[in-house]
Amino acid sequence: MREKRLFLLIFLLCFFCTLSFSQTDIRFDDHFTDETMRVDYFQTGDAHELFFSIDQIYRQDGWAGNPENLIDRSNSGMYFLKVYSISSNKLIYSRGFATIFGEYCTTDPAHKGIKKTFHQTLLVPFPKSPVLFVIEGRDSSQQNLLRPVFSTVVDPTDVNIIHHTPCPDNRVFTLIENGHPHDKVDLLFAAEGYTDQDAEKFQKDMARLTKVLFSTEPFKSQKQRFNVRGVFRASSESGVDQPHKGIFRNTAVSASFNALDLPRYLLIDDNKALRDMASSAPYDTVIVIADSERYGGGGIYNDYTMTTVDHKRSEEVFMHEFGHGFGNLADEYFTSIVSYNEFYPPGIEPHEPNITALLDTDHIKWGHLLTPGIPIPTPWGQEEMEHLREERDATLAELQSKIENLKQNQTDSEEVKALQDKIEETKKSFRDQIEQIREKYQSLYKGKIGIFEGAGYTPKGLYRSEVRVGMFYQGSYGKVSEEALLKQILDLSR
Ligand SMILES: [Zn+2]
Repeated sequence: MREKRLFLLIFLLCFFCTLSFSQTDIRFDDHFTDETMRVDYFQTGDAHELFFSIDQIYRQDGWAGNPENLIDRSNSGMYFLKVYSISSNKLIYSRGFATIFGEYCTTDPAHKGIKKTFHQTLLVPFPKSPVLFVIEGRDSSQQNLLRPVFSTVVDPTDVNIIHHTPCPDNRVFTLIENGHPHDKVDLLFAAEGYTDQDAEKFQKDMARLTKVLFSTEPFKSQKQRFNVRGVFRASSESGVDQPHKGIFRNTAVSASFNALDLPRYLLIDDNKALRDMASSAPYDTVIVIADSERYGGGGIYNDYTMTTVDHKRSEEVFMHEFGHGFGNLADEYFTSIVSYNEFYPPGIEPHEPNITALLDTDHIKWGHLLTPGIPIPTPWGQEEMEHLREERDATLAELQSKIENLKQNQTDSEEVKALQDKIEETKKSFRDQIEQIREKYQSLYKGKIGIFEGAGYTPKGLYRSEVRVGMFYQGSYGKVSEEALLKQILDLSR
């Protein structure tokens, strides 16, 4: 009991220390005006070289973020933006984020030295005096250590900072208004590939996705912390680009399938158009919804989330991609085809909250959530199933070669037919055995938190927290991802 009290006292002390630190260390009004500095920049390079250059800087009305939470104390994000006050040399704003360039770097063309340029945007509260604007990137040869990769001085009095009023063609719809943008997480849906007569459909689509979001934890119990708006700009044509089908549409933000040469990967090509459109409303996070029936989407942490709306799995895709875009959640699947090579270099702990390389079993990322007594790593039949697959493949190959022999010797078809039946039986028998193992472990560990091998595009060396493969499955993100998403919600609201 005494220990418990002591623990509580220490906990409270730490809590108030953190609270007072985060609230008094950097006061928003000392450093910023209630406006947004939008920094548009180019990121160019390949797997070996990297260049940044500023495109344009904008001054936009209102700051949507939480003025009491200016420093991102997580270690989450492929990159980090850090803004220092030049007069005091003090860090006054930071935020983790990811870029499509970061993903491009892991592809074959990037490894072959083909350079590409991507246009990107970072949002910062508008500084009152000159700041040092620093981008840090991960150094994979140094355990993912963050190192400065770009820096520049920004003077808020620079006459070249653009300050124009948002285009009157953008229509803003408010779906949920719970409070001031400073106090709430501001979600902004942006319309892509909706023509002028589809404005009503856009509103219905965003309402449908919002409903799915708020029927899922942690969003469900935190709904009052959100504002939800939509920005509509009519596209000349309906749909999005589908390069493999020779379909190209003239649309608001030029979304296209086949991003990074992956057919289902849907991203936008015109970031400036998206940001111009989004400047019509305050936002912490932007979700582009494309009026298309095809399966696809994408999500880049603290950049944007994207999904089509009319595929039967669009709602599920939206939730999955929002996990990337809003929470820096990693993909947990490890069997689907991707364009990346060694997206997670071996032996390095990923910065995402929901996967681990399990390099240090004493300090597991989600150690506080582990089911007591669960084995680490947690066996889930992976090797047994793999063994059965190998056995199956060998048996099938043997049967197939017998058939080939018989055919060459022109033996009667009765025998061939019997062997073909045997092949079907063998397939079924192995399928049943594999399924039995899968079911055994799925029921044994259902809802339990452990360390299951297979995640982040690889069956070996990376681990997820649940036996099922997240990060959005059957209406839930799972406990570990929920905790990470909740942290984001609490950071962006008050
Ligand atoms: Zn994904």
